[in-house]
Amino acid sequence: MARPTRARIDLDALRRNFCFAKGLAGSAHLVAVVKANGYGHGVVPVARALVGVADAFGVACREEALELRESGLRAPILLLEGVMTPDEIPLVDRYRLAMAVHQREQLEWVRAARPARPLACWLKLDSGMHRLGLTPDAFAAAYADLADCPWVSPLVLMTHLARADEPDHPATRRQLALCAEVWEGLAAPRSLVSSPGLIAWPQAAADWVRPGIMLYGASPLGDGHPSAARLRPVMTLESALIAVRDLVPGEAIGYGGRFVCERPTRVGVVAAGYADGYPRHARDGTPVAVAGRPTRLIGRVSMDMLTVDLTELPQARIGDQVELWGRQVSANAVAAASDTIAYTLFTGVTSRVPLVYEGAAA
Ligand SMILES: *Cc1c(COP(=O)(O)O)cnc(C)c1O
Repeated sequence: MARPTRARIDLDALRRNFCFAKGLAGSAHLVAVVKANGYGHGVVPVARALVGVADAFGVACREEALELRESGLRAPILLLEGVMTPDEIPLVDRYRLAMAVHQREQLEWVRAARPARPLACWLKLDSGMHRLGLTPDAFAAAYADLADCPWVSPLVLMTHLARADEPDHPATRRQLALCAEVWEGLAAPRSLVSSPGLIAWPQAAADWVRPGIMLYGASPLGDGHPSAARLRPVMTLESALIAVRDLVPGEAIGYGGRFVCERPTRVGVVAAGYADGYPRHARDGTPVAVAGRPTRLIGRVSMDMLTVDLTELPQARIGDQVELWGRQVSANAVAAASDTIAYTLFTGVTSRVPLVYEGAAA
């Protein structure tokens, strides 16, 4: 039998989540963000499932863009960090990519280029995140330089929000106000929000929105937020029980003996571990489901295996399906129990895990 560990990818759920994002976006266009191999879901099938509905696709670098072009994707592709060196501009030209321009060096490379086709540039303002973008002081001059450049078209204004997942925090209001001030009078389309901004600040959707994580079904505002009920998990990471044993009180499980049984305990061994992308630092009590019934992780996660509590599931048998995250076990909950976020769980699924596609769009 093949190893039972796999990630099922529900492309119908992806399309439904896209529709939810589109509903929030109003009349704005959507860049479906598919960087990092479609957040670990497999970029080519994910992009194919959104062809015809997404207005553009967002990636981190030219390698990711070329993979999409070579798969036959013809839709616009945006390099969210722009080019890293000037010699990438001919590739941007040849493969018809759009690119962020977030610093003066990139802007000069664009001005020095002699592309065969117009270059789509997304000029980025640092409105407070202090990672990428031109300062408010430098923005007007940069805009004028690009607007004057005959081969720059279209020119889009963009920024990125640092704390949109904290709806009550004043930082987002400040960032939005700064954009309104710096961009006043500039006749160009605008893009401000990714998933948390689109969900928590839909009034800032403007002309282009850039959802990523929400397309994959995890709410960046957490499972308690109403948006979580509207999103459907796309990935189900699953495996199976490969052993079941009974331990007496006082016995410890696995490396380091982290979990010590306080009562007679039935333990299931699952064929998935950190080498599959399951977080090694998941705590005892992290939710998991065995044959559809909820239970918990007990003991430290090892490379190829992890252990779960079957004491309340006497009917559990070798071969039973185990859901590590997915429709029943929320990735956000597993992430919270591992001091991380769903983004790292999805992007951390390793190449050992086959991705199996489901749904009408598969
Ligand atoms: C990754 C990224 C996004 C998507 O963010 P999510 O939180 O996954 O929606 C949008 N814009 C930029 C610039 C990004 O880097």
